[in-house]
Amino acid sequence: MKNPIYLDYASTTPVDKRVLKKMMKYLSIDGVFGNPASNLHIFGWDAEEAVSIARKNIAKCIGCNSNEIIFTSTASESINIAIKSTMNYFQKNKKHIITSTIEHKSVIETCIYLEKIGFRVTYLKPSKNGLIDLNKLKKAINKTTILVSIMHINNEIGVIQNISKIGKICHSKNIIYHVDATQSIGKYPFNLKNMHIDLLSFSAHKFYGPKGIGVLYINKKKPNIFLETFIHGGGQEQNIRSGTLAVHQIIGMSEALLISVNEMDKDRLKIQKLKNYLWNNIKNIKGIYYNGDYNGSPYIINIGIKNILNKLLVIEMKNIAISFSSACTSYYSQSSYVLKSIGLTEKLIQNSIRISLGRFTTKREINYTIYKIHKSINKIINCKDNFFIN
Ligand SMILES: *Cc1c(COP(=O)(O)O)cnc(C)c1O
Repeated sequence: MKNPIYLDYASTTPVDKRVLKKMMKYLSIDGVFGNPASNLHIFGWDAEEAVSIARKNIAKCIGCNSNEIIFTSTASESINIAIKSTMNYFQKNKKHIITSTIEHKSVIETCIYLEKIGFRVTYLKPSKNGLIDLNKLKKAINKTTILVSIMHINNEIGVIQNISKIGKICHSKNIIYHVDATQSIGKYPFNLKNMHIDLLSFSAHKFYGPKGIGVLYINKKKPNIFLETFIHGGGQEQNIRSGTLAVHQIIGMSEALLISVNEMDKDRLKIQKLKNYLWNNIKNIKGIYYNGDYNGSPYIINIGIKNILNKLLVIEMKNIAISFSSACTSYYSQSSYVLKSIGLTEKLIQNSIRISLGRFTTKREINYTIYKIHKSINKIINCKDNFFIN
C-alpha cells in the first residue's frame, strides 16, 4: 500500500500510465511534435490528423459533433469563455444570468465580475439535499434572462443536478444553458443528445488525463449562440480561442476519456462499493453526519463529526490526503460556501471534510482510512488540550 494515501481525487487525478505512454509519442523529435496549423509539410499534417482523430473521439464520448469541440487550457477557461462571451454578445438587449450558490468558483467569480460591469445575476440556493428546486428556477426566469449556468455534479458534496430537466426549461424559454460538467465527464454516464445543453465545460485532469487541457462544447444547432473571439491571434479553434494547439495534451485527454468511458461502469461499481464500505464502518461514530445526498456521486463523500474541528482531523490524519471545502476555497482559507448554502452552521462547516475516491483507490487504503479516522477522533477527544504535542 502506498503511503501517503491519496483520497483527494475530486481536486485532481494522476495521469493514467496508459495515457502517459500515448502522450509521450507526441512530444519529441522522433514523435509527432509538429504544429497542427503548419499546413505546408508532413510534420504539421501528422499533428493535424492526430488532433482531428482525438477531437472525433472526444465528441463521440460525449455525444456531439467534432466541430462543436473547442480546446482550451482548463475548465476554468472554458467557463469564462462560455459565460462572458455569451453575455457580452447579448448585452445590448438582455442582461440577466441565473446560476446557483453551489457552483465552482470559476462560475461564481465570473458572475460576480459580470455583476460589477452591469449585468444582473440570480444565485439560486439549493434545498438541504443540495438540489436546485426547478420551480424556483422557473420563477427566477424573466424577459431579460439570457443564460442559465447550473453544474452537473458538485465538487464538494457530489450532489447530481437534473441537468436535462433544467435544459428543457431553458429551451422552452429560449434561454442558453451552460453546464459545468467537470466532475461528471468520464465518471458518470453522459450524452449530449437530447440534453438541451448549449455550452459545456470540463477539464481532462479530473479523469486521469493531463492538467492544462479543457474543452468547451458549443451547440452548433442553436442559432442564437454566438461566442466572440476571446483570445485573438492565429485564429485556431474557430477563431474563438487562438494559440498553438497542445497536441500531446489533446491526445492525453482523448485517450483518458476513451479509457474512462470504457471502464466507467466497472470503476463506478467498485467506487460505490468502497464508498458504502467506508460509510458503513464510520457511520456509528458519535456525532457523525453526512452532507448532501448519499445517493449523489459515489466518488465524493462529505462528512463531519460534531465537535471535531476538520483542521485537527486533517493534521491527525496527515498521511491521508483529504480536504475540507474545495481546494480553491481552502487556499483562501475561507469556510465552504457550498456547505453554507445547504444550511450548515459555521460550526458544522468547520467540522466537515471531503473524502474523494478514484480509480486507484484500494480496499486496503479504505481499511486504513477507517482505522485512522477512528483513531484520530479518539485521540482528539482524549487530549483536546495538548493534541499538538505528540
Ligand atoms: C475542478 C473543477 C473546476 C475547475 O477545473 P480547472 O481544471 O481547475 O479549471 C470547475 N468545476 C468543477 C465542478 C470542478 O470540480
